[in-house]
Amino acid sequence: MKYRIIGVLFIAMNIMGCKSSEKMNFDTHSISSGAINKLKTTKNMENSKSKFSENDIEHLKYCLALAEEALKAGDEPFGSILVNENNEVIAIARNRVNEINALSHPEIELANWAAVNLSEKDRKNTTMYTSGEHCPMCAAAHAWVELGGIVYLSSAAQLGTWLEEVNAKATPINFIPVEEIIKNISVKGPFKGELLQGIKDLQIKYHNNN
Ligand SMILES: [Zn+2]
Repeated sequence: MKYRIIGVLFIAMNIMGCKSSEKMNFDTHSISSGAINKLKTTKNMENSKSKFSENDIEHLKYCLALAEEALKAGDEPFGSILVNENNEVIAIARNRVNEINALSHPEIELANWAAVNLSEKDRKNTTMYTSGEHCPMCAAAHAWVELGGIVYLSSAAQLGTWLEEVNAKATPINFIPVEEIIKNISVKGPFKGELLQGIKDLQIKYHNNN
């Protein structure tokens, strides 16, 4: 029954041409803010060597598109999706910090959605793809609802570097690599090349204008 519901959702998203999180009532938002303080990069360097599949790349492109949508809506460019074990996109979200409140990050929104809509087993078999590595709040939410792995486009450390370049406002928290918050988590990231440049460009564009 769960799969049937998810299948319907997925089909509905396809029918709706759901590139836009605006169309789904569970979509949301992500990260917040300004610059990131003191970031650790060791784990990210290790992760960058992880192999990304073609599916991973397609899903990260979707996250980038959601981030761009957030930017166009006047919010910070972050986007995330949940993918089930059949490689189906079952939920999407984008940053809505400016639209709702400072906690409206896409990753915690998706964690909340998963808590309500997925069984414990299905949550463990669900991967979250995201344009930017989870902040500590979202990482904790991801862990508490026992979602599966994480694939991110850019690391929090990279974001911190970019934001320093444009003198963005400092964030009120320190960003910590997700592996240091979530126990026994599979993590891939950051990715490289045009996609990484794409999210960097969006971030710089937002912070140059705000
Ligand atoms: Zn967050």
